[in-house]
Amino acid sequence: MSKLFRALIMGPPGSGKGTISGRITKFFDTTHLSTGDVLRNNIEKLTPLGIEAETYIRKGSLVPDDSMVKCILEEIKDIKGSFLLDGFPRTKTQAEKLWEVQKIDSVINLVVPYELIVERVKLRYVHMPSGRVYNLDYNPPKEPMKDDVTGELLIKRQDDDPDILTKRLKVYDNETIPVLEFYKTKGILNEFKGNTSNEIWAKLKPWLEEHMDLKEEE
Ligand code: ATP
Ligand code: MG
Repeated sequence: MSKLFRALIMGPPGSGKGTISGRITKFFDTTHLSTGDVLRNNIEKLTPLGIEAETYIRKGSLVPDDSMVKCILEEIKDIKGSFLLDGFPRTKTQAEKLWEVQKIDSVINLVVPYELIVERVKLRYVHMPSGRVYNLDYNPPKEPMKDDVTGELLIKRQDDDPDILTKRLKVYDNETIPVLEFYKTKGILNEFKGNTSNEIWAKLKPWLEEHMDLKEEE
């Protein structure tokens, strides 16, 4: 019997949610949905949501709850089986709306010191179409500045600029810490601490093995 595991991955900007999610989907049977990636794809395609979202993302602010909730609840409806939501919910309102339609089994919270995040993000590059994340320091691409899978060029996210990042961290403190408290009172918050994604993964993997199904060999 397969175990249904409806999970969230949380943590401040630059805490490695994308990197860790990539490892989770490599080993375990779940669907990863990153709201940042969904929004960036909408921006690329110039959809109404993308055009709206761009003005907020550029400043390091949050996209309004109504638009986010509508978009993400729509996406979740289509997922069969286990999922791993990355980047949603980020406000108390979003968390309450999600809980109304879909109970969550577990929240995986990545705890990384802010001073390290600021340093790490300076060395962060992404492959935009896939959302794959690299760090020149501890998680470099196989070939300089190229995505491992497609060979396409890596870029810096505009909102990884140090001033915008500082703003995003403040927004996180004000808007998203209350979301962690919401899940703590539900008794489903699990914290994994580390300075790098490798450190966090070493603690998280054994925990996941207890809770999730391993992916079938392809
Ligand atoms: P990282 O990708 O480094 O972990 P992050 O979590 O801040 O950092 P993304 O998840 O990629 O970044 O999101 C980028 C931007 O998209 C956010 O700064 C915000 O403007 C917008 N965004 C993403 N998810 C939401 C959400 N649930 N509610 C409101 N805005 C969102
Ligand atoms: Mg992300």
